[in-house]
Amino acid sequence: MLNYLSIDLESWAMPNTPEFLQLKSQQKKRLDNGHAEKSTLKILDILQKTKTKTTFFIVGQIYQWYPKLVEKITRDGHEVAFHTHAHDPLPDESSLIRSLELSKEFIQKFKPIGFRAPRINFGKKYFPILKKYGFKYDSSSYGEFYSQFVYKKVKEFPVSAWKKIPIGSGYFIGLLGNHIDKVYQRLNRSNTPFISFLHNWQILSPLKPTFPTRSYLITHPHYFPYLKNTSKSLEYLVKKFSISPMKNLLQ
Ligand SMILES: [Zn+2]
Repeated sequence: MLNYLSIDLESWAMPNTPEFLQLKSQQKKRLDNGHAEKSTLKILDILQKTKTKTTFFIVGQIYQWYPKLVEKITRDGHEVAFHTHAHDPLPDESSLIRSLELSKEFIQKFKPIGFRAPRINFGKKYFPILKKYGFKYDSSSYGEFYSQFVYKKVKEFPVSAWKKIPIGSGYFIGLLGNHIDKVYQRLNRSNTPFISFLHNWQILSPLKPTFPTRSYLITHPHYFPYLKNTSKSLEYLVKKFSISPMKNLLQ
């Protein structure tokens, strides 16, 4: 059975917290300090070894920082999808249009058909805009595989939830490590593929993390699983399961 483990490609310096959201692109790039590129190259290496092709939901600014990296992702045969221009919160339709316009160059070059909103926070009201910009599917919700729907000719592929627990989130790979395979297998046994994702920053621990700060961790202790290096779990999962790019779900 084919399953879908995608990568959300962004930077440690792009959390949706006020102090980071106000930073300019170049300030974030300095803070990132090459980490987004290094972590992605490591992922590409792991995928190459098992000849796995998948989907990368990419933040537009990452393309501006590392254009060659995104070109390598397509050259390696992976699907390039869109994860907003600057990991933008999307409180309304105009914020999505602004985000798409800022990434015009990226969208014209790679013609992504897949979209994922930061923090899996989205709604049907955005679908007509996605359609206008050439997108064919969205994956910005949690739900059961068969709760997929089409609205304004855009298909929604929810990230896997099991008994309402969003087990497809990279958070659970951090929390459970390789044992996440038990949950995935359970879905497969009931003839259901899993749709999950990992962030590139979960693969390689930065030397000097910009986020989360120590004070953030004290007030958000549930964040700890995100700090676990999941590169071994990625290796394990792509060996164990057949992974496919999400655009193949459209067939
Ligand atoms: Zn994200």
